[in-house]
Amino acid sequence: KRAKIGFIGLGNMGAPMAANLARAGHEVTGFDTAGTTAEGVSTTQTAAAVATDADVVICMLPNGAILRNVAEEVLRAMKKGALLLDCSTVDVEAARAVAAAAEDAGLLFADAPVSGGIGGASAGTLTFMAGGTEAAFQAASPLFDVMGQKAVHCGEAGAGQAAKICNNMILGATMIATCEAFALADKLGLDRARMFDVVSTSSGYSWSMNAYCPAPGIGPKSPADNGYTPGFASELMVKDLGLSQQAAEAVDADTPMGALALALYRQFVEKEDGKGKDFSAMLPRFEARGRS
Ligand code: NAD
Repeated sequence: KRAKIGFIGLGNMGAPMAANLARAGHEVTGFDTAGTTAEGVSTTQTAAAVATDADVVICMLPNGAILRNVAEEVLRAMKKGALLLDCSTVDVEAARAVAAAAEDAGLLFADAPVSGGIGGASAGTLTFMAGGTEAAFQAASPLFDVMGQKAVHCGEAGAGQAAKICNNMILGATMIATCEAFALADKLGLDRARMFDVVSTSSGYSWSMNAYCPAPGIGPKSPADNGYTPGFASELMVKDLGLSQQAAEAVDADTPMGALALALYRQFVEKEDGKGKDFSAMLPRFEARGRS
């Protein structure tokens, strides 16, 4: 059935997600502080304006601090029984805090971060990993079906974010491993196309290699084919690896590969030229370096 949806955060991910909801026949109103828009989506001047009368408010925002601020404004404006669906990647504590505030306000809440990147957002093939009550998950399900191809109910509020940061800790480490292996292959005189052909069908395969190959001109189209324009920006990977290390510290989990991936991405963004580049731009970074 046609739902009235408010969509807050029309960035690289949010804009195509909102456009898919509009294309599916929902009435979508959007808001973004940068004034961005999405196809088929009317925009407003405030977050509260998109929340008023909405059956569902979806957030696709940069981080937990921003989510907390936006939620404060939005929860006041939403009608009782409506659903606040946060698809951003944020810390588990922020998700739990917003869930509690939503419950106090008589609203449903689910944290439902996504995997699949801008390609998945555009194609409507994202994977959602959700935390929250069964009622919230059920209310969100028809929208997951439009924006994605799979939704897993991971547990209570915060469980979706827990799944997301574990996934992205693996992603950060495998992207680095894939990039350093390409740089090694170059120096060994191995052709990149042959390297892709072998690894993508051998035990070194991963999403980083097969679906998002960091070498330009090889594999399916990826940010490498577009000068490493994000895509998924390196600074967002720093954010996600920071979240997994923060979570690991909080529960005393040993995550040395996660720690090293964070250190390398942080160096790339803060001391080298990684800022504003896709996280697969680790390949030209390794290409330019020798052993040190
Ligand atoms: P983005 O920076 O392109 O988009 C975020 C948008 O939020 C921007 O347009 C910004 O102007 C807007 N914004 C910031 N503060 C706001 C506020 N107070 N009110 C309204 N709008 C505000 O980032 P993105 O790549 O679209 O990522 C969004 C979220 O999705 C992040 O949490 C990210 O970690 C996660 N994510 C991204 C990808 C990816 O491949 N890009 C994949 C999975 C998850």
